[in-house]
Amino acid sequence: MLRQHSANGVTYFTFPELTEYGLYHVIGSRVGGVSPEPFASLNVSVSVGDTAENVRENRRRLGEILGITPDQFVTAWMIHGNTVARVNGEHRGQRIPYCDALITDEPGVALFMTFADCVPIIVYDPTHKAVGLAHAGWRGTAAGVLQNTLHAMQQAFGSEARETVVAFGPSIGVCHYEVGPDVMEAFRLLGRATPAFQPGHEGHAYLDLVETNRRMARNAGVSQVLESKYCTACHTDVFFSHRAERGRTGRFGVLVMLA
Ligand SMILES: [Zn+2]
Repeated sequence: MLRQHSANGVTYFTFPELTEYGLYHVIGSRVGGVSPEPFASLNVSVSVGDTAENVRENRRRLGEILGITPDQFVTAWMIHGNTVARVNGEHRGQRIPYCDALITDEPGVALFMTFADCVPIIVYDPTHKAVGLAHAGWRGTAAGVLQNTLHAMQQAFGSEARETVVAFGPSIGVCHYEVGPDVMEAFRLLGRATPAFQPGHEGHAYLDLVETNRRMARNAGVSQVLESKYCTACHTDVFFSHRAERGRTGRFGVLVMLA
């Protein structure tokens, strides 16, 4: 379960278990920023129509929680794919093109991504002191972005899945995520994940993104999985939800950094 915090008016969350491991992380919300509707108010995405000035101030407020500035963030140009990029201090201030997961073993390198329904996934290896951050909507989930992240960390840092903690942040819950035949077919064809569907209206199903990714983690051998228990679409007072707000909304940020 997430723990809620407030700092200078900004509402954010942490996983107590990750904090105990010594991992710096901030799961942002939409509360405590400067942006107007429909980005009110802590939008941290430059791709939704908000001004660069607002986004910069909002990112500054998130970074301040960890004592860093946005020019230290390494972020990703996300494409709902399964590509993983290994980054280090040289990438500070950069937006890595065409990837949906970032991994590092370098302390002080802040991995940063933006979300509004897709699952934020933090992967932490306390043994080898390495961390990953991934973005998993249905496309990334079906394409195995979590599986690829675990594999990339194993290759790069020697991270064993059984020693790794996987934490799923706030994302759209099965209660709000009805999908059509195209999505069901994509999971069948790609076969990287065993999707968790519940019956929906005719020809449709409700997709449980977190449970689907939990199965992927379990199949990979991960023993410790943490969940936020927040559905973004149920809690649009706290989080942005692309689906619940029909595309006109902002993104909240997730920031992770090795101490
Ligand atoms: Zn919901």
